[in-house]
This record gives sequence, structure tokens and C-alpha cells, in this order.
Amino acid sequence: MTAPYQKIVQDLRQAFPQPVSDRVHDAYFAFSVLRTLDQVDSMKSAAPVLGTPTEPNYDFARSQRMADDPQPLEQVTRQLVDHLSGMFIWGHPRAQINVVPPPTIASIIGGLIPSIYNPNLVSEESSRQVAVSEVEASSIAAALVGYDPLCSAGIFTFGGTATTLYGVRIGLEKALPGTMQHGLRSPAAVVCSERAHYAARTVSGWLGLGYDQLVQVPTDIKNEMQVCVAESMCRDLLKGGNRIAAIIATMGTTDAFGVDDLQAIHDMRNRLVDEFSLDYKPHLHADAVIGWAWSVFNDYDFESNPLGFRGRTVRALAGVRRKMRHLNLADSLGIDFHKTGFTPYTSSLFLLKDATELQLIARSAESMPYLFQSGEYHPGQYTLETSRSASGPMAALANLLLFGKNGLRSLLGHLVTMAEALREQLESHAATHVLNGGNLGPVTLFRVYPDGVDTFTFPERERTLADCRAQLLAHNEYNRRIFEIVQGEALQGRGVVISLTDCYRETDYGEPIVALKSYILSPFAEEQAVEYVLESIWQARAEVAAASAG
Ligand SMILES: *Cc1c(COP(=O)(O)O)cnc(C)c1O
Repeated sequence: MTAPYQKIVQDLRQAFPQPVSDRVHDAYFAFSVLRTLDQVDSMKSAAPVLGTPTEPNYDFARSQRMADDPQPLEQVTRQLVDHLSGMFIWGHPRAQINVVPPPTIASIIGGLIPSIYNPNLVSEESSRQVAVSEVEASSIAAALVGYDPLCSAGIFTFGGTATTLYGVRIGLEKALPGTMQHGLRSPAAVVCSERAHYAARTVSGWLGLGYDQLVQVPTDIKNEMQVCVAESMCRDLLKGGNRIAAIIATMGTTDAFGVDDLQAIHDMRNRLVDEFSLDYKPHLHADAVIGWAWSVFNDYDFESNPLGFRGRTVRALAGVRRKMRHLNLADSLGIDFHKTGFTPYTSSLFLLKDATELQLIARSAESMPYLFQSGEYHPGQYTLETSRSASGPMAALANLLLFGKNGLRSLLGHLVTMAEALREQLESHAATHVLNGGNLGPVTLFRVYPDGVDTFTFPERERTLADCRAQLLAHNEYNRRIFEIVQGEALQGRGVVISLTDCYRETDYGEPIVALKSYILSPFAEEQAVEYVLESIWQARAEVAAASAG
């Protein structure tokens, strides 16, 4: 007589991959995945979204409870697939939304296998050879950015935010030694540009430094830190007896792909150490979560241009390389493979130039008695996380292997070519104005104006002159309306999904400048997609004009 629970366990065994080879069951597993993919595939159309755009129903979600009995696997996957309805297809040529890439098949599989065998990267003991993937991916990345892979260390973590967290935490220990043990007893500043990602703010808060300790240096019109201003702000801090936990250089800002002058920031840091005879070096962290990928061009021969990029693209790529090749001057840096490396979330790498500095944040072996009994690789001694997924490093490694330098160069070159084509078009029309005009990356921020605005002079005036406040605000509203119309069309499969940023930057008199944003990250984008953007803007302009006339 089997008890009811035994019958349930018996059935549920079918829902697990079999521990011992069982071809029939393997087929069932593979088929379950296939059926799931098939269901998703049936949600595809010409539109850049899966299924139909529906409003999320949170009331329904809150009413859900756990059922008494198990459900068949097929029913479960069906319900999971339903959640993809309305999801953007980032890889669609009509999707130019944000810095979200479509993941490659290699990286999806890289993320999937650890999900099946569940290595725990806290240590070699629980991840065996899979732990090697973290070292492999880190070493490849280190060599790309110009670190010595034998002296540096790499830690995968839970996002670009966490890479900044690591950088600032190590810097804090340098600026105020002993705080890891005794806690914070005096303040320390974190210096970054005003266009740095809000991760810097998050980290200052979470580390107990406080938002107030974040020092935001003004940027120039290219969204780059004004290093001479940074120097006088740092000097004031040091004169006042403050310590600096970290200086963060943003190597590719989120909205506009502004790239700070890392070399100038590095030289400034060294000058200040000498000038104030500091007993520590303020830690220099490069937030390169977006820009790192351009380091594949460090050793590209732009003169002979073997990949055959067109002139405007060569100029743009070489322009970014000019700054990105100094990444190795940073004491640490952050890399997001899930941004410009085409992997699924989350695949973020914190690289530390001098591996011995990890000791600053290490826990003692005695504090973790049940871990690290054997083997030599125990990242859990330093990592914030205990259980650590291998999906990030395996997905990163997958793409590094898949692409090779020429693969990533070609992809980035293609995206930049598309963005350059868009910028060229937008610049040639009187009703549109590119805000990050000198920019060399894959993102374009622009504003659309109604008839009768002189876009040769007005954008500059509304950015600088407080007299223009009313017009600026009206144009902000106008761009929001254009965005809504373009968005509505795109969700119906016409035009292109772009995005809107509420504050591309502030005017000189403190008002936010709203901008439309095209972020091209789809390898499937073609010049046609650029045409779509313009067509849908003209249509939206006409609609707004008709509405205000009527
Ligand atoms: C996206 C981004 C971050 C945050 O990274 P997550 O991976 O989203 O946590 C930090 N800095 C910059 C410049 C970014 O664009």
C-alpha cells in the first residue's frame, strides 16, 4: 500500500531531469523546452512585441494563491509563457529602446546549463570546473581592457550597480582602513560626474556613507566630467580634511554615451596625492559597464580597416577607442555583458587591477567554517553574495568564445553605422535636433520641434537662457506627445519603438530637457529601420499639428 504522498513524489520525479541517463526522459525534457519555445514563437508577428500589448493585471496577481495539488508541467509552462505576452523583442529591427541587448543562443545555453546542474560559485568545492569559467571570462576581459590577467582578479556579481559597490567598498577601506571591521566613524566622499549612473548614489547610501557624501561634478555639453572642475572640488574636499573613498569615471553614460577622460582623471588623482601628501590613493573606479566592449578596438588597425567599416563609422569607433584604451589606468572597473555583450541578465563583472587588494574586503576562513575545505579557488571569501550563480560567467564566456574580437567589432561597428545613419538623417531635417551630436556611440538623443521653430539656434537658446523657460517646457510636452504617438504606432507593428528620457540633462537654469532616444542594439537593424523612425516622427508631428489646429 503506497501512501498518497509516495504517489505524489513518484509523479513529481518526472518533473526533474533524471540523475541517470534515460533517453526517453531526456527527450521529454528537451521536448518540454521545445514546446515552450514553440508557444513563444506563435506570439511573434511583424511588431516588435510578443503577443499583444496588454496592461499588467496586478490585482489578479495579488489574488493568486498556492494550489492544493501539483499541476502538470505542460500547464505550468503554458502559464509562464503567458507572462511574455506584450514583452518587447529587443532584437527586433523595429526596437530601439534602451541599452538592452538581445542575447545570443550561445549565451542562453551558457546560462541554461548551470541552471540544470546548479554549480555554486561560492567556491570550487561546489562548482568544480565551472568555477574555471569565472577565471577564464575574467582573464579574457582583463586582457581586453589592458590589465595583466595574472595580477588582476575578476568577480561576477549581481549587476553593474554591484560592480560599483565593490569598487567603492575597496576604495573606502583604502581611505578609511579598518572600517570593514569597526564600521564607519567618519565620512568619506564619492566623486563622480552629474551624468554618472544613479548606482553611485545607491552605493553611497547602502555603504552607509550617505547620499550627502556623493560629490557630483558638472559635465560639459558632451556629457563628460569637467576634470578641471573635479580637481577644484576634490581639492576643496581634501583641504577640508575629508577623505575620498572613490572617484568614479563613467565610460559610457546610460542615456547619451558620454565618455569621461579617464587619463585626465587619473592624472588629477595622482597630482592630488602628491599635493596633499595623502597616506592613501583615492580609488579610481571606471564604470565601464557600457563602454568596455569598445576595448576590442584597442588593437584594431583603423588605417587599413580590414573589416571595411565606412568612413563615418571608422571615425566614430576610433574616437571612442581614443578614450577607452586608457581603461587600464583605473584601479577597478565594471563590465556588463548583459548590456553591450549580448548576454541575458545578469552578467556583470567587477575587475580589480591588483588582485591583492581583495584582501581589503576578505573575511577570515574561521568565519566561514563550513566552506572552503578543499581546492584553491574560493571567491566566496570576498564576495558579497554567498550562493553565486554560474549563469553570468558562463553566458559571458559563451559570447567571448562565440564572437572573437572580429565578431564583437563587427557587431558594434554595425550598430554605430546604423546610429550614424540616423544622426545624419535627423541632422538634415529642420524639425529635428540631435542633442548628443558629437556622440560616437549607438545611442541618439534628439528633440522634435513644431513648425516655425528655428532649430539652428533655438535648441541652444532654450538650453542656456532662462527667458526661454516657457518654450522649453512647452517643447518638453510636445516631445512627450510625439513619443506617445510613436509608441502607440510601434506597438501596433508600425514604425519603431524608441524611448523617452525625462531628463537628458538640465538646462543651465535648472529645468530638465526631455528627449527622445533611439538605442540601436539589434544586429538585425538595417538602414530601413532608420527610415521607419523618421516616417513615424513625421506622422506624429502631423497628428499633433492637426490636433492643435482642430
Ligand atoms: C546600467 C548602468 C549601470 C547599472 O548597471 P546594472 O547592470 O543595471 O545594475 C551602472 N552604470 C551605467 C553607466 C549603466 O548604464
